[in-house]
Amino acid sequence: RFIALEGGEGVGKSTQGRMLAEALRTRGLDVVTTREPGGTLGAEAIRAMLLSTEGEGWGARAEALLFAAARADHVEKLIRPALVRGAWVVCDRFVDSSRAYQGGGGGLSDAEVLDLHRIGSEGLLPDLTILLTVRPEVSAQRLALRDGGTGDRIESRGAAYHSRVAEAFRSFATQNPDRFAVIDAEGSPDEVHARVMTSLAGLLA
Ligand code: C5P
Repeated sequence: RFIALEGGEGVGKSTQGRMLAEALRTRGLDVVTTREPGGTLGAEAIRAMLLSTEGEGWGARAEALLFAAARADHVEKLIRPALVRGAWVVCDRFVDSSRAYQGGGGGLSDAEVLDLHRIGSEGLLPDLTILLTVRPEVSAQRLALRDGGTGDRIESRGAAYHSRVAEAFRSFATQNPDRFAVIDAEGSPDEVHARVMTSLAGLLA
């Protein structure tokens, strides 16, 4: 089974990913946790190029191609082999982040982003995509606690960019209710984790 955690900055994806993996392992399942961009040596190298705040940065199309290349390496070397052996894969961000950031935020069409994903990763989609949502003021607070609010190249893009991203995520979830669970990520980590486990009931049955 392939589970992706999605959402904007500061919604708690990495905390919830850890708690989810732990809960699945407690049930005796083989679980691989990973993140995007990254997860393999090649993809982590691309991540560093994408997120560094040095230099002039990437245009929207080059950025989308780099994310697609990082994902291709990650899918080929880590995610597909894990799924083939029957493991559960819990991934912090996947293709819907590209649709939301390079598409909704950066202005590429959704069809273009999905084409890159088809070429790079044969269109692999998660069985379930858990979209964590919080009000913008809550994510701003959490980010400030985490890193003093500075952030990487993409995090520092400003409120208009990030509100397009959040809107795009919501619209994908509305278009595709079978693949998405939209979860209110305000409240304590334990409260949010309980909601995440409820959304997985169908897959665990
Ligand atoms: O989730 P995390 O903070 O590790 O993501 C790293 C950065 O990459 C974030 O700023 C995120 O918004 C960005 N990103 C992106 N497009 C993707 C995946 C991540 O812009 N497809």
